[in-house]
Amino acid sequence: MALVNTHFLNLQNNYLFADIAKKVNAFKVMHPKADVISLGIGDVTQPLCPAVIEAMHQATEEMATAEGFHGYGPEQGYEFLRKAILENDFLPRGIHLDINEIFINDGAKSDTGNIQEVLHWDNFIGVTDPIYPVYIDSNVMIGRCGTFEDGRWTNVVYMPCTAENGFTPSIPKDRHMDVIYLCYPNNPTGTVISKQELRKWVNYALKNDALIFYDAAYQAYIRDPEIPRSIYEIRGARKCAVEFHSYSKTAGFTGLRCGFTVVPKEVTVATFEGERIPLHQLWSRRQCTKFNGASYISQRAAAAIYTPEGKQQIQQTIDYYMQNAARMLSVLRSLGYECYGGENAPYIWMRTPDGTSSWQFFEQMLYGANVVCTPGVGFGPSGEGYVRFTAFGSHEKTEEALERIKKWSK
Ligand SMILES: *Cc1c(COP(=O)(O)O)cnc(C)c1O
Repeated sequence: MALVNTHFLNLQNNYLFADIAKKVNAFKVMHPKADVISLGIGDVTQPLCPAVIEAMHQATEEMATAEGFHGYGPEQGYEFLRKAILENDFLPRGIHLDINEIFINDGAKSDTGNIQEVLHWDNFIGVTDPIYPVYIDSNVMIGRCGTFEDGRWTNVVYMPCTAENGFTPSIPKDRHMDVIYLCYPNNPTGTVISKQELRKWVNYALKNDALIFYDAAYQAYIRDPEIPRSIYEIRGARKCAVEFHSYSKTAGFTGLRCGFTVVPKEVTVATFEGERIPLHQLWSRRQCTKFNGASYISQRAAAAIYTPEGKQQIQQTIDYYMQNAARMLSVLRSLGYECYGGENAPYIWMRTPDGTSSWQFFEQMLYGANVVCTPGVGFGPSGEGYVRFTAFGSHEKTEEALERIKKWSK
């Protein structure tokens, strides 16, 4: 008899996007002629840039020859890509990493979900709330989160991020955390963290011997030069932080799959006897056993975004999305809605009017304006009373959606 990992049975079915789809489908059945615009799901819409396409064509041609064929690649990823990462993402900001501290991944979701498996099951984790669901769910799967009561896991420290605290979570004094997940620019709130605030987290981790898992999937959307794009801009972070990057939102790789994870050699975790083990050693061993890399073609595609043409082309697409964000902020605010984010991130986090619940507002806007948003409560208890809009649509659809919201709100 094969026994089930019962922790899986404790998972709360996070049917957020399935629930949304169900409600949208119900609406479409009743209103077959209505043309619904989705500003809900966080997938990109614009095609890959020409430099990436060209690199993929070239890599495909190479693979068609005996000399150019690439089979299993190096476990940590090809050096050409890791070198480009060091030279473009880190050195210009004064961050010196060793090439062996970079692990190429097949997207940040896998690694943000998998990293926790090298840690003992009874570490306490802390998360900002609302939050990208992967961090908690991956910990639930290994039995680290306790039980689910009143919308919260008993062994998880939730740090509310709301308009009232300026989306700046305060560090709880009464509960210890061993592992902290931070995501900036934030999904879903679209807010960012200042160097000064980030320094507080690094200092907390150093002082309390905690680990920070820092998700930088949206760093390319930061426009304000004062906002840190990497946690390693903070002194001491090399000793306590792992950082996750993804080309999904940076360069439209959601369907192509590639990113990277930084595990500095100085980050260590403890045994019960007090011995310190480099996390790098554990992660490297784990990857060599369970992971065979992003494909050669994906890695060549990723390297192409670091060429002068590639850089300029992906920036154009990012600017395109950020124009949507600016339009959305301007129109929604002119209608009297309270909006956050959208300045250094492709998400707008909007407070629902008059204390309407997230789901109620979602339905009202679906039926009234035929526009889909994401109910904030789907990202955690502190998301109640908010909805998320994405800037990843086309200009035309975004404008049309805003026109409809305008008419509906009046
Ligand atoms: C989209 C996203 C990612 C990236 O996921 P990929 O697996 O790289 O496509 C990571 N973290 C957050 C918070 C995201 O929203």
